[in-house]
Amino acid sequence: MSLKLSILGLPGAGKGTQADKLSETYGIPHISMGDILRNNKEFETESGETVGEIIDAGNPVTAKTCATLLSTRLDEPDCADGFVLDGFPRFQEQAEIMDDVTGIDAILLIKVDEDNILERLTKRRICPDCDASYHLKFDPPEQDEICDNCGTELVQREDDTAEKIEERISWQRDGIEEVLTYFDGDEDTPVEVVNGNPPISEVWNNVQEVVEKHVN
Ligand SMILES: [Zn+2]
Repeated sequence: MSLKLSILGLPGAGKGTQADKLSETYGIPHISMGDILRNNKEFETESGETVGEIIDAGNPVTAKTCATLLSTRLDEPDCADGFVLDGFPRFQEQAEIMDDVTGIDAILLIKVDEDNILERLTKRRICPDCDASYHLKFDPPEQDEICDNCGTELVQREDDTAEKIEERISWQRDGIEEVLTYFDGDEDTPVEVVNGNPPISEVWNNVQEVVEKHVN
């Protein structure tokens, strides 16, 4: 069997969770471009700077470098039966790369209402002391806002305020639109849309149903 998927969705859509389930069920690796870049900080790019230097300066890594690193990763033996790419491509330029280097079977878009995303992400809390993570609605601590492990008062990640989340949603939504436009009408790379609003188990059932059609 072989399955090459790309999974897209806004922050908080649950794509990481679904990607993990796909990885486990089909025995294919869950690959994220962010991890690839973090694992290749020493890689020297065409400009002479390393990937690490570019990231540390807050600049985007070029499409060419992403293509090189991605194709190297996908050539590793664990990708022999396919993979699930998480959060890639994010923009049109990356969609072109993906088209060139991966030969993907389908794109899976997990679509969640933006109100729902705000609720999911603004209720995330972490323990500043032991790094435990909670969700005030889905995975609350026993005592409100207090860490179960160590009794420390929980905090919100700086990135998880409503304002920051809206910023992230806005640029990622534009990117997803670009990617969908790029693949629109491309019969070799069909886009499957799954409603990500219901509970995780229901989303998972729907994901499996559409993904089954693309297993070779
Ligand atoms: Zn703690």
